Amino acid sequence: MANAETAQSPEFKFRSSLVLNGLDKEQAAGFLRHQAEHHNLSLTQSSDGQLECVTPFGIVRLDTSGASPSLSIEAPSADILYAIQEDITSHLSELSETLASALTWSSIFSVGDYPPNFRLAEVVSVGRVNPIYTRVRIKADKLGNFANAGMHFRLIIPASGAVETDVYPVIGDNGQTVWPKGDKALHRPVYTTRAIDPAKGWLEFDVFHHDGGRANAWTKTAQPGTRLALMGPGGGTLLDTDKIVMAGDETALPAISRILRHLPATATGKVFMLVSDETEQVEITAPEGIELNWLHRSEARPRQLLQAVTALPDQAPGTYAWFASEKSEVKAARAHFTAQGWFDKEQSYLAAFWTAH
Ligand SMILES: Cc1cc2nc3c(=O)[nH]c(=O)nc-3n(C[C@H](O)[C@H](O)[C@H](O)COP(=O)(O)OP(=O)(O)OC[C@H]3O[C@@H](n4cnc5c(N)ncnc54)[C@H](O)[C@@H]3O)c2cc1C
Repeated sequence: MANAETAQSPEFKFRSSLVLNGLDKEQAAGFLRHQAEHHNLSLTQSSDGQLECVTPFGIVRLDTSGASPSLSIEAPSADILYAIQEDITSHLSELSETLASALTWSSIFSVGDYPPNFRLAEVVSVGRVNPIYTRVRIKADKLGNFANAGMHFRLIIPASGAVETDVYPVIGDNGQTVWPKGDKALHRPVYTTRAIDPAKGWLEFDVFHHDGGRANAWTKTAQPGTRLALMGPGGGTLLDTDKIVMAGDETALPAISRILRHLPATATGKVFMLVSDETEQVEITAPEGIELNWLHRSEARPRQLLQAVTALPDQAPGTYAWFASEKSEVKAARAHFTAQGWFDKEQSYLAAFWTAH
């Protein structure tokens, strides 16, 4: 499991940097602060004014001593270095797409290659688990990081609704990914590795069926041998904690189920899982001290996960808080956890898994 301790390891030999032309020192510092907040990470300031953010997967530093501020990254592998670069570039695009596309990473990567965290894959099997999930098993090479360095990845399938494409992203001149456009555009939703065996070269994920979901439509046409791609891993780790409160909806169940399977046997806590009814519940394996609570959706009772968590008595300091569901509910959960004394950035994971439109 990756954690802050391993992040400080001297093994972090993969490095790149980015001069933030177009941002002044305050804007650059504000950007990094905002990113740290967004990812629930702490920032520290060194005596020479550098800001440093130790993430579970690498280190990001901001140097404001030069004419233009610059970011540098250290990571334990090329895949992870590239994933952090992409995360930073994508957040810079939210500030200004023109500014972000004009920036160039001092890359160790070759222009025109597939990104290092990109994997061509092939469907091995695809089938219904219950009324709401389709399970997909894929095979691909070099899946080691998907088992160890993050639970989530991007599924890469055609946005057009076709079952396959043969045009995939490559590394551009500025070190950023160039994505196919027009009728070759790709859909890239985030999924969770629910089970994996890198030695045998397979990975499984569960796709929740919801109205208008393009990934679900893809599962209906995909069959053994269908080609696709993955990019990752990114975000979310298994947890080595003794006390935990977890809450999540259908999109979070694959992650909850995998985390619970890997908790220490002595762990205690409460888990709230939201589905529509009993037929949608899945088998969960958890330590004996973990109380599992299934909640059933009801229009009369919106935001049930939030209500369940806010109804809990104060938790002991050090209790890990894990919450994933629709964006607005997660925002409210963040406000609630922040108001509690036991909430701690290092001891929490709060993530919007989807956005209601
Ligand atoms: C870290 C992370 C891990 C995730 N893991 C999983 C996973 O293991 N399994 C899984 O099924 N999902 C998972 N999700 C959620 C998934 O990425 C989103 O639901 C995504 O939108 C699915 O893409 P799509 O092609 O089905 O829908 P799209 O075609 O992108 O969206 C179509 C419409 O569906 C709506 N929509 C999206 N999600 C939902 C929903 N849950 N309920 C109702 N409407 C919805 C959108 O608002 C949009 O209007 C995860 C998300 C994150 C961030």
